[in-house]
Amino acid sequence: MSYAFGPHLIRSNQIFLFSKLSFAFVNLKPVLPGHVLVAPFRVVPRFVELTYEEICDLFSCAQTIGKVIEREYHATSLTIAMQDGPEAGQTVVPHCHVHLIPRKAGDYANNDDIYKDIEKSPKVDNEERSPRSLEEMAKEAEFLRQFFKDSK
Ligand code: AMP
Repeated sequence: MSYAFGPHLIRSNQIFLFSKLSFAFVNLKPVLPGHVLVAPFRVVPRFVELTYEEICDLFSCAQTIGKVIEREYHATSLTIAMQDGPEAGQTVVPHCHVHLIPRKAGDYANNDDIYKDIEKSPKVDNEERSPRSLEEMAKEAEFLRQFFKDSK
């Protein structure tokens, strides 16, 4: 089974958490280890289009997942980001989603450079950052799934 992420289909073996209104999955081109995404099931491009229930669900998932990935990827902070619309850097995926990225000291020499990478990550190819294999993503999702057994 697969779930729509804008025009893409996310296979269930890439997904590690289902809630009532959202799902969370591993990234095709993570900017750092543990960079995952959480999105509402409903495909809407902008944050303003989410209902109150979808916002509560999405950010409650973001908090739950953030706690786990920070610990499991041996990080000490999190970057939590949303590119809400094309001028804010939303790229090829017009489907509202939250980026969750474990952070640790020294992972970026210039801390805010991470936002440049988040913005270009879907477009970056080959030499800079090639897409991960389905196997690699499935393995990471399987690892993460153990921490969210109670979801949905
Ligand atoms: P943005 O629209 O700039 O917030 O970024 C879209 C995010 O989705 C990037 O982090 C991409 O690496 C990620 N992405 C794009 N396609 C897929 C996919 N098929 N599976 C997982 N992640 C994806």
